[in-house]
Amino acid sequence: MAPIDTSKKSIVWVLGGPGSGKGTQCDKIVAKYGFTHLSTGDLLRAEVKSGSERAKCLTAIMERGELVPNEIVLDLLKEAILARAEESKGFLIDGYPREKSQGIAFEENIAPVSVIIYFEASSETLTQRLLGRAASSGRADDNEETIKLRLKTFLDNNDLVLAQYPDKLRRVSSHSTLFGRLSNFQLAVCSLAPPSSSRGYHKATK
Ligand code: AMP
Repeated sequence: MAPIDTSKKSIVWVLGGPGSGKGTQCDKIVAKYGFTHLSTGDLLRAEVKSGSERAKCLTAIMERGELVPNEIVLDLLKEAILARAEESKGFLIDGYPREKSQGIAFEENIAPVSVIIYFEASSETLTQRLLGRAASSGRADDNEETIKLRLKTFLDNNDLVLAQYPDKLRRVSSHSTLFGRLSNFQLAVCSLAPPSSSRGYHKATK
């Protein structure tokens, strides 16, 4: 894969526990700045739906709230990034990396990360939010038992992932208001723009 030129297109990893609001915040940044939002959970669910050969082992792992093999996630991410590399102004990679080794593999195979946004929230808040949306989400893994397992998987790995990038990490509290969270997220994204191209990043696309 041709490396992404991160002086022109930033790579932002958007991290946080299940239910921390990553996807909602990403949608707002996409609408305003023209970034491309790639959620590894969404990519995996689309792959399962496609019925492909590589999707066969995914359903059971996802229903157990465990991490699927990184080769599959990384392949899906690479394909999605390549397909959009021309037109995209930058990438919000939501839900990746979830293990220290995933971060290393991404930077070796795709591109160095520009900044990492971490949405902080307590386990109680995450559980309440996930249970609240379970009735309407239609997701097989939004049930009480799998929610516990997903949280455990997250808590087992998260500190190690974050500890690897002290200089690039920006924390946003999920407990602040929606507006406060978005402002902090935007500040981090705006700070990426090199001076010569900053107007492109600040201009609303709709
Ligand atoms: P999410 O939609 O982010 O809650 O992810 C749903 C499920 O997809 C997770 O519980 C994992 O089984 C799988 N998944 C999502 N992202 C990753 C990743 N980066 N690495 C491994 N598995 C993942």
